[in-house]
Amino acid sequence: MLLTISTTHEPATDLGFLLQKHPDNVRTVSFPFGEAHVFFPEASDTRCTAALLVEVDPIGLVRRPGRGADGFSLAGYVNDRPYAASSFLSVALGKVFRTALNGRSEHRPELAATALPFVVELPTVPCRGGEAVLRELFEPLGYAVEAHPIALDERFPEWGDSRYLSVRLTGQVRLADLLAHLYVLLPVLDDEKHYWVGDDEADKLLAKGESWLGAHPARDLITRRYLKHRHSLAAIVLDQLADEDTQVEAEAETEAQADKPSLNQQRIGAVVAVITGAAAAKVIDLGCGEGRLVQALLDAGVAQVTGVDVSPRVLAKAEARLHMDRLSERQAGRVTLLHGGLTYRDARFAGFDAAALVEVIEHLDEARLGALEQVVFAHAKPPMVVVTTPNVEHNVRFAGMAAGQFRHRDHRFEWSRTEFAAWANKVAAEHGYSVRFEPIGPVDPEVGAPTQMAVFTR
Ligand code: SAH
Repeated sequence: MLLTISTTHEPATDLGFLLQKHPDNVRTVSFPFGEAHVFFPEASDTRCTAALLVEVDPIGLVRRPGRGADGFSLAGYVNDRPYAASSFLSVALGKVFRTALNGRSEHRPELAATALPFVVELPTVPCRGGEAVLRELFEPLGYAVEAHPIALDERFPEWGDSRYLSVRLTGQVRLADLLAHLYVLLPVLDDEKHYWVGDDEADKLLAKGESWLGAHPARDLITRRYLKHRHSLAAIVLDQLADEDTQVEAEAETEAQADKPSLNQQRIGAVVAVITGAAAAKVIDLGCGEGRLVQALLDAGVAQVTGVDVSPRVLAKAEARLHMDRLSERQAGRVTLLHGGLTYRDARFAGFDAAALVEVIEHLDEARLGALEQVVFAHAKPPMVVVTTPNVEHNVRFAGMAAGQFRHRDHRFEWSRTEFAAWANKVAAEHGYSVRFEPIGPVDPEVGAPTQMAVFTR
């Protein structure tokens, strides 16, 4: 698979400085999926072209250690990965041109900051949705888009076109922006499985896309496809881009009652009481959001409190709420904020007396819940785990909520008391915990309390 970037900005050989690659040399970088080569097929004062050639080893991909076998399938061996501009190309580009992607240039900083005339050629682009989607992605960013369909087989024109396009993009842009657009949009066009998609993909997307993605008319399509296999993350990124207040606050809004302590406050009070009642000295708040519980635990005298969240934005808010920048050394030593995902095993989660999961499980796809159970109950396995989640039966008591509507649009499910108890009992039995249940908020005789809490102890 091949990508070329050309410029006619004179002296055109400055492209070598911008990409931090000498036009006379070929540079090769190894990846788990193959090799990437950078070279300059053309380097004159008037026109210079850099090429990124990625050789994917499809056999090596299939045999990569740690890849679960998804049944025997020839697709693993015979596929378009070696030829099509897929997410592999994007990964290679992100690494090989990292400095340029970050807008830096040692020798030509002023050029790196300037919009220059560029032409990008991609001979084989898998284009799910066809040319229309290609245009929808690149035209709003100011590129002139030329695309030619590639026939399935030139010898048999009656077979028609393949889903691949040969693409040329022309624009006057900063090189860093050009690279960021390709980095994010190539996987979006490809829309295939990216085996490395993990929690940090959301951050990459935001980091590379923040300035232009928020205003992009195809923003939803881009985020959804980029994070194809992580729908919960896609929702979080969309939330962040929408630049609305976080989910936590949206929830508080639905639930706030002007005269009484908000449900949120009652929840925090109940969780703090359980945790301090057990004399836990080291507590981890998993999915800590903006750090309200972290603050309350510190105020209640818990010696060490750690908050974890997948969203850098809410972590930044937590940092501000906790005044992390102006704590005394001693106070600062009591609190830690970690960026992490709860469905990936993480050694940093071990060694605590208690863990809290407050209004978090319902943000995960039910299919990912098993992964969280492993991470929390099998690997971190603190002596106490406190889990809260909405009691869906209570929703009928909230004014203004339509039947069947969840309390927040990022919720993947909301459980009845029976469903929550069934899950919690199963988890307890599987991991050697016992579990008790407590309602949070006013208990309605018919539909129960608004929030339900399970307290697991080992
Ligand atoms: N516990 C907080 C926040 C609840 S909202 C409170 O009660 O106020 C759910 C939080 O879980 C969000 O901050 C969200 O970013 C986080 N979250 C969702 N999925 C996650 C995951 N897979 N890993 C880590 N955090 C996650």
